[in-house]
Amino acid sequence: FDDRDGFLWLDGKLVPWRDAKIHVLTHGLHYGSCVFEGERVYGGKVFKLREHSQRLIESGRILGFEVPWTAEEIDEATMATVKANNIVDGYVRPVAWRGSEMMGVAAQATTIRFAVATWTWPSYWSPEARMKGIRLNVSTWKRPHPETAPTASKAAGLYMICTMSKHKAEGDGYEDSLMLDWRGQVAEATGANIFFVFGNELHTPTPDCFLNGITRQTVIALAKARGITVVERAIFPEDMVKASECFLTGTAAEVTPVREIGTYTFTPGDITRQLITDYDALVRA
Ligand code: PMP
Repeated sequence: FDDRDGFLWLDGKLVPWRDAKIHVLTHGLHYGSCVFEGERVYGGKVFKLREHSQRLIESGRILGFEVPWTAEEIDEATMATVKANNIVDGYVRPVAWRGSEMMGVAAQATTIRFAVATWTWPSYWSPEARMKGIRLNVSTWKRPHPETAPTASKAAGLYMICTMSKHKAEGDGYEDSLMLDWRGQVAEATGANIFFVFGNELHTPTPDCFLNGITRQTVIALAKARGITVVERAIFPEDMVKASECFLTGTAAEVTPVREIGTYTFTPGDITRQLITDYDALVRA
């Protein structure tokens, strides 16, 4: 992924992609003092750019560091990077981390580094192709208690359990993994939030130990605009037997129907189809 043409934003300026290098003794690499974002470009524009830039800053604050750029500056850096690489439909990865001036648990004197990468990544699924739905297993790894880990931060360290869960799922022939939380409640997938249809209502877990995703909030608003009742509550695995539809939401996942979670099955239907259509229309508006 590192040997290619193009430009990356690094600490205030565009640099050739191949030259965007950092030292092995980077604190963020050794101790997980790193936060990031994932954004999508639709028709040359970043969907919900300001919300993502703001969340990056907030994620850093939760980990106890200040990203040395304002949300406005992060927006500008992002758009400069998108333009320099001629991205029309793609993905954006801003990242901020503690540098390599100090090596140890305490790292107060490290500088906070900031980079933005972007690459072409069209979202090419037609609604009908998506409606087939994906299959999830149930991970043995649990989302931690918010006093155990900074669960409201999009912190790189929290993705360790996501990668382990996703690799196990893929090894067993599934597309993704459902993660429960430390109480045994349904939490989210490894990189996306989750929704269920119960009767005519849309239910989704209360985001008290995982990201309240920007897509999640967008889809809730779209559902309410369609007059659909949205309920945020504790959902237990055994509740899933009564759910008719299920889908994931996330910047990368957009709205992705689910047809199976372990022994539970769902049939992607009218509410899922409506929200896919509404989400696609909104991101391209
Ligand atoms: N949960 C996790 C673990 C994620 O990685 C993501 C993707 N950022 C989400 C939820 C959804 O967040 P968003 O809709 O803001 O992309």
